[in-house]
Amino acid sequence: MPGKVVRVRRRERLGLAQRLYLPNIFVGLYVTARHFFRNLWGYIVGRKRTFVVQYPEEQVDYPDAFRGHPVLVALENGEPKCVACGLCEFACPTDCITIIPEETDAAIERYPREFDIDMSRCMFCGLCEEACPEEAIVMSRSVELATYEREPMLLHKKDLLRTEEQLGRRIDYMREEYAR
Ligand code: SF4
Ligand code: SF4
Repeated sequence: MPGKVVRVRRRERLGLAQRLYLPNIFVGLYVTARHFFRNLWGYIVGRKRTFVVQYPEEQVDYPDAFRGHPVLVALENGEPKCVACGLCEFACPTDCITIIPEETDAAIERYPREFDIDMSRCMFCGLCEEACPEEAIVMSRSVELATYEREPMLLHKKDLLRTEEQLGRRIDYMREEYAR
């Protein structure tokens, strides 16, 4: 079920109905009641689509523009596509990326010996993805990061690697979006 983008138009000035509050409270109650009775009817007749997503058994198919937590793109040999240039680290407004670069004999010359992202500080802004010249760091569709402690929120290179296949939809979206 792809997500729907809703554009909210805000009026600059409140009308009489907004200033009186009460009419809008009744509008709100009407909307809530409409959803309640529609879902209740769906339940009675067994129409599953009228319900909200039964998370975690069901997962939402987020739109391609959705930004989950950033991950690293892996090459076919399992190594990161990243060349440790540090641009994402520099662009990150919360300083949650830490890269330790190292030289390599391979054609790409540099690679990240360590690449950590502290997800407890990441705000999913996507600036690292925009800054990367190699399409090596990409916003995934994953948002499930809840833990009881902070330590597991520090993700290392091995935790961040994903194949291009897994990130295909986001990579296609990026190419289209950033080409504009
Ligand atoms: S999404 Fe934003 S905050 Fe998170 S690592 Fe990337 S640049 Fe930093
Ligand atoms: S910007 Fe891209 S290539 Fe450069 S260090 Fe970050 S992930 Fe690696």
